[in-house]
Amino acid sequence: MSQRTFSIIKPDAVRKGHTGAILAEIEKAGFKIVAIKKVSISKAQAEGFYYVHKERPFFGSLTDFMSSGPIFPMVLEKDNAIADLRKLMGATNPANAEEGTIRKKFAGSIEENAIHGSDAEETAAFEIGYFFAGCELV
Ligand code: GDP
Ligand code: MG
Repeated sequence: MSQRTFSIIKPDAVRKGHTGAILAEIEKAGFKIVAIKKVSISKAQAEGFYYVHKERPFFGSLTDFMSSGPIFPMVLEKDNAIADLRKLMGATNPANAEEGTIRKKFAGSIEENAIHGSDAEETAAFEIGYFFAGCELV
């Protein structure tokens, strides 16, 4: 059954010029890009997005990083989109990411790891709504 998930090409990957290559991997894996835009977010907006991680020791550093330059938030659709995107991304720490995954190819560190992907249906719904209005999702 077709499912939507939410992803972000993070500032490190945009800075390094990997946006197109990452989008190509995503499309090659069978995802339809429902919506995408280029934005820069404030520290406060990054804190709102990563609110679930507010107690983690890396919260300050993560939200500095996510507000450090342009990003490409996007909504993706395919069968089993949430789990399949997580598989395509690879492990959070690129040192542990499997060969062929986006993080293995493009991530520089556990923090600057190129791509975000929702981890569950509820988080996907929250994250899509955080960046996109309903009328943008056609
Ligand atoms: P994800 O779902 O694989 O993106 O990982 P998490 O939800 O656990 O963490 C969110 C984001 O925080 C990650 O993608 C990294 O950018 C960052 N992060 C996670 N763990 C660490 C860590 O141990 N140290 C630092 N500096 N950043 C981390
Ligand atoms: Mg996560």
